[in-house]
Amino acid sequence: MWQRVTGFVTRCVLSAADWKAAGHLSGGFLTLRGNDMLIRAFATRACRSARTVEKTAVKLFACPSCTQQLYFENTRCLACDSIVLYEPRQAMFVVAGASGAIACANSEQCACNWVAAKPGGFCRACQLNKTIPDLTVGGNRERWIRVEAAKKRVIYSLLSFGLDVEPKSAPGSEVGIAFDFLADPSGGGGPGGERILTGHDNGVITLNVAEADSPEREKRRIAMGETYRTLLGHFRHELGHYYWDRLIRDDAAWLDRFRATFGDERPDYEEALKLHYATPPAADWQMRHISAYAASHPWEDWAETWAHYLHIVDTLEMADSLKWSIGAMELASGPLLTPDTDRGAGRDDGQDPGDDGAEYPPASTGAAFDATLGRWIVLSNASNSINRCMGLPDLYPFVISQVVAEKLAFIDDLLRR
Ligand SMILES: [Zn+2]
Ligand SMILES: [Zn+2]
Ligand SMILES: [Zn+2]
Repeated sequence: MWQRVTGFVTRCVLSAADWKAAGHLSGGFLTLRGNDMLIRAFATRACRSARTVEKTAVKLFACPSCTQQLYFENTRCLACDSIVLYEPRQAMFVVAGASGAIACANSEQCACNWVAAKPGGFCRACQLNKTIPDLTVGGNRERWIRVEAAKKRVIYSLLSFGLDVEPKSAPGSEVGIAFDFLADPSGGGGPGGERILTGHDNGVITLNVAEADSPEREKRRIAMGETYRTLLGHFRHELGHYYWDRLIRDDAAWLDRFRATFGDERPDYEEALKLHYATPPAADWQMRHISAYAASHPWEDWAETWAHYLHIVDTLEMADSLKWSIGAMELASGPLLTPDTDRGAGRDDGQDPGDDGAEYPPASTGAAFDATLGRWIVLSNASNSINRCMGLPDLYPFVISQVVAEKLAFIDDLLRR
């Protein structure tokens, strides 16, 4: 049975009781395909709560001089020619030089467009860098620029949630973030064939800068059987590990809730990863996890789900910033359906996310995150359909099961407490 969520919630006006009574509606309230139970459950939950994403939509910005629209990466206003800098404290752009706004010391090095935290210093994001790529190596500056662009997006998100984003006060300190952007030793490996592994250790995020090259990243994505692999995804995932340490590990109440939702993290992590790579994932992993890798250990499940939470809220925030009315999209969708199946429509060499042969139970957690999730289903389905029209892979090649929805709701609860 094909279980991929491919319906549109076309209008969100029914109560849970209405849904129960109406069942499979034909009057245009829902267009269902595939796992209609799941869609209906999301619709029901979305109807119960009129709450929408509460984050202020600021993914598009305005020039402080002329109000021309600016993008997050802009360094200059194309309308009035002002040199602009991003000010993370206020989440807005300022004119360089005005009110003491000085460019980050990395502005010439890696096209950083953020305000320096102090005169002559680095910005809030660059001051987290412990190791930058060797710029005497050809191509590394371009790689670093791409790495920084992805990193700044995730730092923006963390700050918008009010999370502590501080550099380490001392090497080895548990608190604080440090980035190591490293390359494999020349020749592709060290004396023992060592390679730089992207990962997290006690707040130190290591990224192999080879991941900034699309061909290399694509090669790794295929080798790992993944449907999605990006620099931004790496940062969101690895920082998820750090914030688990900060927000969950030492808080008994949240740790209990974590174990109830994600499972007991105490089984040996290294052994779990070895087992994951040695054996294929369970056929029904999508019932419980957002990705096959998430099934390897509760810590990885957490980091993967954390990354998806940021994927969802950030993309919805951009849709809001663009003034896309998802409600209007729901109404306009009418009888339109997403393409018939994901098979062959997405990646042709990764795992097929839509054919696990399992049946998803209806989602009915009633959490505050439901409205966000309902909107995400509409937006991600629309975006997937648009991508397919262009012959591109799905924007969001994932299934959100009931269990995964509860995990996302857990993170929402944690970040909005
Ligand atoms: Zn301007
Ligand atoms: Zn900077
Ligand atoms: Zn991880």
